[in-house]
Amino acid sequence: MAATALKCRECKTEYALEARYVCERCFGPLEVAYSAPDVHDVGELRRKIQGGPQNIWRYADFLPLESGQPGSASRNSTAGGLPAGCTPLIRADRLAERLGLREVWVKNDAANPTHSFKDRVVSVASARAKELGFTTLACASTGNLANAVAAQAAALGLPSYVFIPSNLEEQKILATGVYGTNVVAVKGNYDDVNRLCVELSGEREGWAFVNVNMRPYYAEGSKTLAYEIAEQLGWSTPDRIVAPIASGSLFTKLDKGFEEWREINLISGSRPTFNGAQAVGCNPVAHAFELGRDFCQPVKPDTIAKSLAIGNPADGPYALEVARATNGSIEQVTDDEIRRGIRLLAETTGVFTETAGGTTAATLAKLAEQGAIDPGERVVLVITGDGLKTLDAVRDSFAVHTIEPTYEAFEAEFAGAAV
Ligand SMILES: *Cc1c(COP(=O)(O)O)cnc(C)c1O
Ligand SMILES: [Zn+2]
Repeated sequence: MAATALKCRECKTEYALEARYVCERCFGPLEVAYSAPDVHDVGELRRKIQGGPQNIWRYADFLPLESGQPGSASRNSTAGGLPAGCTPLIRADRLAERLGLREVWVKNDAANPTHSFKDRVVSVASARAKELGFTTLACASTGNLANAVAAQAAALGLPSYVFIPSNLEEQKILATGVYGTNVVAVKGNYDDVNRLCVELSGEREGWAFVNVNMRPYYAEGSKTLAYEIAEQLGWSTPDRIVAPIASGSLFTKLDKGFEEWREINLISGSRPTFNGAQAVGCNPVAHAFELGRDFCQPVKPDTIAKSLAIGNPADGPYALEVARATNGSIEQVTDDEIRRGIRLLAETTGVFTETAGGTTAATLAKLAEQGAIDPGERVVLVITGDGLKTLDAVRDSFAVHTIEPTYEAFEAEFAGAAV
């Protein structure tokens, strides 16, 4: 499967594989198009993938690079950038039991180099940016993308500029600045940051804004999450995917990933049902779903799920399409439900996620409670970021037992506890 063009999602006009993201004819978004794959032997293709590197480049045949994969001569060197992917898919029986379900899997994509799934999209966008001759990496970020771009630029030896809303969690700012990037905190929300970056990307010729002028390549990186899930489930699809929605890119590309592989019979199973997760405090896609609309009304975000706080989601309409076409839904949960979602996941699986993952876990819990999930279904919960990034969300949610350093003090505090 070779990338052949950038294609408008609306009017299907094709463009060369350059740094371009919007259709000149109709202003629709552009997506990477591929030649029809020519697969004779599914077993051989599976073996080729399994024999590939332990990162997203094992799926290089389905990604839009001319060189196949970056730094392929030295598999895990940073010559090709910081390797992302190959994160654990964990069968979460205690979580399933708590929810009255039989088969729940947690895809822990916090287990990436900068602790969120953004390392996948940045890997692909930055590799393509290098091919196209860009010399500086940049992004408009709700936090995790800044993290991933800063680290990737450090690995590649490129200068970088990351633009974030100035009210971001301190943990995310610290974990980004450490890589030696230029952190630009914009006094405004993500949509203001994005507007500024769109303007800058038209002026700075050598700059690759991974999610602006490189967006079609960036988006392809998310497909690898679907490929991995299918490979880890023994070359089959799950029945249901529960995943978060910010711009809606990840959500729609998960579907694209499964569909591409189903088409060539690389995997078995039907198209999964897609449930999207948003916060009540930033719910443009969930709201449109509820109203039966096929467009999103922009909102001003106000939620602890800051990594999902995009008030004007570029891929909102396509996320709605995926949810409806698969008999799924797009849900919204309150900040308190998000906090409880973080604790639910942590206490039943040992996986500590950030507020985006809390949103997703809370959404799964809500669907299970409503009886919207058949107990026999194979469900995958997509956890996209690490709890250490949003520690405030769990502050004061449990007691710390402070005692004197004596046996008696311990006994007094824990009288009656199991011996
Ligand atoms: C960016 C992000 C998402 C969703 O991103 P999309 O814009 O919808 O692709 C989900 N979770 C986390 C933790 C993120 O950083
Ligand atoms: Zn168009």
